[in-house]
Amino acid sequence: MIVYFNGKYLPLDEVKISPFDRGFQFADGVYETLRTYNGRIFCYQAHIDRLKYSLNELNFTYTSLDEFDKISFDLAKMNEISGKDFSVYIQLTRGVQIPRRHNYQENLSPTVFVTVSEIKDNHQNFDNGVKVILEEDIRWTRCDIKSISILPSVLAKTKAVKFNAYETIFHRDNLITEGSHTNFFGVKDGVVFTAPLSNFILKGVTREVIINLCIKNKIPIKETYIKINDIELCNEFFITGTMTEVTPVVQINDRIVDDCEPGKLTRKIKKLFREYILSNKSSV
Ligand code: PLP
Repeated sequence: MIVYFNGKYLPLDEVKISPFDRGFQFADGVYETLRTYNGRIFCYQAHIDRLKYSLNELNFTYTSLDEFDKISFDLAKMNEISGKDFSVYIQLTRGVQIPRRHNYQENLSPTVFVTVSEIKDNHQNFDNGVKVILEEDIRWTRCDIKSISILPSVLAKTKAVKFNAYETIFHRDNLITEGSHTNFFGVKDGVVFTAPLSNFILKGVTREVIINLCIKNKIPIKETYIKINDIELCNEFFITGTMTEVTPVVQINDRIVDDCEPGKLTRKIKKLFREYILSNKSSV
């Protein structure tokens, strides 16, 4: 496997990372996951804007953000997956600092890592809907930053897998925030609800696309929290994410939703999303 590391394309086993890298010692870094459809990165600029936002919020300077498109396609070519759909993982850490200190120096060189990986088609698994479980949101209060410090999400997703679920959905003070790696939507009386943007959720790129598609197609949508007790009142749910796309939720903990069938509005939104991808635009 060829990866991009600090300005070079290298075989994976030639990459050397210092144990004094602040990413290794403090999870002091940020990341993005992107994907291609039909030879183009989906919503590339939205991902780069979010990366810029995460970096700014952490007072972290990196000026070559526009190179990731080229780097991704170079890597795809080198790894012989050019003609296929692939995902891109970009990670930047603040860099190496010796000796170890909590406070960071201002002038460090970031450690930059990019890797690509072929996407094997998984739509069939997702079309029929998935099970999710609910958990208290124990993450920090800057979930708007796509930090690599995501241990609560790692634990939550692992618990989901253990319970044969696809995802864990977090709630904080009785309000549903989002999933460990997805945004969460519920439908009640024909209106779609999802948590509002704040420091408690990530501004999902797919979330934004779905909101705009709903507006364009006159599907009522409200960026309003779903209360944990109101889950009973909703008759459809779905989750969104770059790799998850629009995935119906047909079971929440022990509650089977709507005879375990994806809801009507969810199917409509999923179809609009598919059409949008195929239309090959990069933003709504
Ligand atoms: N929420 C969290 C916590 C995430 O980690 C992710 C993606 O990784 C999402 C939501 C979905 O975001 P996107 O649609 O940009 O992939």
